[in-house]
Amino acid sequence: MNDRAKMAAILKEFRRRYGNEREYGRPFETLIRTIISQRNTDVSTDKVSKRLFSVARTPEQLVRLPLKRLQSILKPAGTWRQKAKYIHSVSVIILERGNVPRTRHELMALPGVGPKTADIVLMYGFGIPSIAVDTHVNRIPRRLGLVSEKAKIHEVKEALERITPKKDWHVVNHGFVSFGQMVCRAVNPRCSTCPFLEFCPFGRKRIRRSRKT
Ligand code: SF4
Repeated sequence: MNDRAKMAAILKEFRRRYGNEREYGRPFETLIRTIISQRNTDVSTDKVSKRLFSVARTPEQLVRLPLKRLQSILKPAGTWRQKAKYIHSVSVIILERGNVPRTRHELMALPGVGPKTADIVLMYGFGIPSIAVDTHVNRIPRRLGLVSEKAKIHEVKEALERITPKKDWHVVNHGFVSFGQMVCRAVNPRCSTCPFLEFCPFGRKRIRRSRKT
């Protein structure tokens, strides 16, 4: 099975499990939430974002929020001093320019915004096709042998974009994230019940090893 055929099988399964449609919009909230998610768990990101947006969700409101209050809300998300600085600076810039930038290049010029954050804002904030390489998208395609184990992050992105039709890029993002949380977890992946075991080198090796012990 070649990589394109593997990817087609993966996308079909992701659509069956998680659906095809995603909600897009709210670029500013997507941007702030993604800064909160940096080096943080999904559960903590959800909690902290909810708390912050219940207090301030627009650039105006965030700029007015006292720094101490912002820091205290961000504490459970880790690296909270840095994140508070980024969120305040980003809010000032967005307030001044009047909108969230719509290009990867302009997004990456904002404080605290790297390639992953920029790609997530494009995809989920604006609905512009873009594959964001987060921890799940970085881990699972390597296990599946779709990219080399030694590939750099930008090479993972390029490989996935090469073997996936552009109209399906949004399925790659939300599919790998949901699959990585439930099945192909970082620790103890559920290989024995995984629908991709047949063509997954990592999973097959793991199962072989467990049979020997
Ligand atoms: Fe992940 Fe295991 Fe499935 Fe491979 S077989 S994709 S390692 S859960």
